[in-house]
Amino acid sequence: MKIKSDPALLAEVRKYGNFDSNACYQCGSCTVICDLASDSASFPRRTLRYILFGLKKLLLGSLDPWLCYFCGDCSTTCPRETEPGEAMMTLRRYLTAQYDWTGISAKLYKSRAWELGALFVVGMFMAFLILFFHGPLVTERVELNTFAPVHMVHTFDLILFGVLAFFLLTNAFRMYWFTMHQSNSARILDVIRGIKKDGFGFTMHQDEKIRIPLHLFITEAWTMIWNFITQKLFLKCAKNVGRWLKHFLLVSGYVLMLLLVVGLLLWFQTDNIYPIYHPQRWLGYYATAVLLFGTVEILIGRIRKREQIHKFSDFSDWMFPVLLLLTTVTGILVHIFRYMGLPLATYYMYAVHLIIAVAMLVVEVPFGKWAHMLYRPLAVYLQAVKERALQKQAPEGVVVENV
Ligand code: SF4
Ligand code: SF4
Repeated sequence: MKIKSDPALLAEVRKYGNFDSNACYQCGSCTVICDLASDSASFPRRTLRYILFGLKKLLLGSLDPWLCYFCGDCSTTCPRETEPGEAMMTLRRYLTAQYDWTGISAKLYKSRAWELGALFVVGMFMAFLILFFHGPLVTERVELNTFAPVHMVHTFDLILFGVLAFFLLTNAFRMYWFTMHQSNSARILDVIRGIKKDGFGFTMHQDEKIRIPLHLFITEAWTMIWNFITQKLFLKCAKNVGRWLKHFLLVSGYVLMLLLVVGLLLWFQTDNIYPIYHPQRWLGYYATAVLLFGTVEILIGRIRKREQIHKFSDFSDWMFPVLLLLTTVTGILVHIFRYMGLPLATYYMYAVHLIIAVAMLVVEVPFGKWAHMLYRPLAVYLQAVKERALQKQAPEGVVVENV
């Protein structure tokens, strides 16, 4: 098996953020300290080696960057201060761009002008739609559903959701293809050689491929669902428990809000004002409160830079929480103006809210940081499938550790 080296890989990866691993002398301390690394996923050292040696095919076939939940321990441990944790973050951006077949993600990650320009273009498109298709402006009282007929908004939501899901799922399919087909033999052999080297006495011919039985994709499917809901890998690292809880709450608010505005908008956006105990009110308040708390907390952390994980912030790391915060705040203002009985303020703020929310969703869901929400559980699932296949074919006595 021949693996070509790409001398331009390091320079290309560096366009996606901090990657300062030239000084790495392969001591392995980062992998030893990492609670999430295992025999079959010995990151970050191995992953850094791929870049330094220009092994692009192995990098594309690697799930390791998605199995890192960025606690920062490896960075604080590294004797050469090469910031391996941040390097893994950079690799997640790089891989997101590689999975994206449109090439948009690469442009957004590599250029601030492209990211701001894309947000502006989508926002302006949305502004024109509202300008031409809004309903009458009733000024005697607030009639939001007359200004923005809920059936029309709901149809738009469903179309937008379908388009974004198409891009996201096709990109996710490419991730599956790179990691399970294109580089399957290379990655699996790498694992086997690792086991052999560590003295387990496992011998296998270098060209021998490990086949992955189809049924494993079905029997391991729960891994993806469970990890998508719980993101439980956070908890493997003891210091991440607080972060896991905050992340879990933020995602629960985000998913709930998405469900309310895409699936249940006819029930959620009414001109009736229901009593406080009505689920329409408290479900909306819960989602809003955790989105507000979560985004403010993230932004304060990035401004203070006290934790290792906030030491470096790429432009894209700022944009998602900022857009989410703006979407949340404008949503709250719509609610307040509506309760205060201010018709024009409600309609204009609703228009601003839609412009920001749609721009954020179009740019972030299939091409930006939001996509990590899908890639992470998908990686855990694909890794579990690989490991089960390896376990089935490993000779007696060889133990393959699971993530
Ligand atoms: S701890 Fe630092 S020097 Fe050692 S292998 Fe990891 S990145 Fe390289
Ligand atoms: S940041 Fe944490 S989870 Fe990621 S590689 Fe480093 S030690 Fe492991």
